[in-house]
Amino acid sequence: MSKERKVILFVCRLWLLIIFLATNFDDAHGWGSQGHRAIGYIAEFNLASETKKYIFEEFNINNLADVADWADKIRQKRRQESPWHYTNVRAGEWTYEAARDCPNGKCVTEKIKEFVAVLANIENPLKKRKNALKYLVHFVGDVHQPLHLGNRKDRGGNRIHVSYSGRKVNLHYLWDGGLIDWREESLQKYAKRLNIKLVDSEKKEWLNSEVNDWANESRYLALKYAYPLENMKLSKEYLSRSREILDQRMIQAGIRLADLLNQLFKSKK
Ligand SMILES: [Zn+2]
Repeated sequence: MSKERKVILFVCRLWLLIIFLATNFDDAHGWGSQGHRAIGYIAEFNLASETKKYIFEEFNINNLADVADWADKIRQKRRQESPWHYTNVRAGEWTYEAARDCPNGKCVTEKIKEFVAVLANIENPLKKRKNALKYLVHFVGDVHQPLHLGNRKDRGGNRIHVSYSGRKVNLHYLWDGGLIDWREESLQKYAKRLNIKLVDSEKKEWLNSEVNDWANESRYLALKYAYPLENMKLSKEYLSRSREILDQRMIQAGIRLADLLNQLFKSKK
């Protein structure tokens, strides 16, 4: 093949790739990568030193933030995994019920339980356990995003369009972290600031919960605060309250993820 033809072929392939990526881009990502990484940092601050050591020695993971958005990246290739990132609760219902809302187990709530079991079983191959850990870091984040416990008909707010800062965006994107100005401070600083504010009594209360509780909290926040818009507009109160909720959900996700891993690896050494 002549050099010229090779170049033309290469350019064509590049274009095809760009078109493929653009058309397959899924907007239901969950927290965006910044949110997931912030949760990873918060979890790191709350890991027991033995847990940290175990994760590094066993899985060669230095910081949970480094693997926090892996699951979103691979879902671009494995489209069948998309439903694992959220749970649609039946319209009008305020709490999650596995038999009704996730009968096939392919939703974020049940996947968390599944991957906890995979990770806990040291008979499993190392790679399988490492992937389970990476999924968990991500999915504990997703289940805390209120609109990941949204309604099927609007695809968790993806089909609700609003104007924000002069741009037309969807509600899901805003709750994925679009409401936070990530340029203001580094992710680590943001995570640290949230972590410092954490009060012991609050932490204790938040840790006294399990996956279905996290899902139910998200569902409640979605119905009570995320969905109700006045004339499809975002009021000042809506924005400030939503940002407060997002901060709280991220800190909750971070400490619960850390607690889960601390518990899981306590007996593994
Ligand atoms: Zn996700």
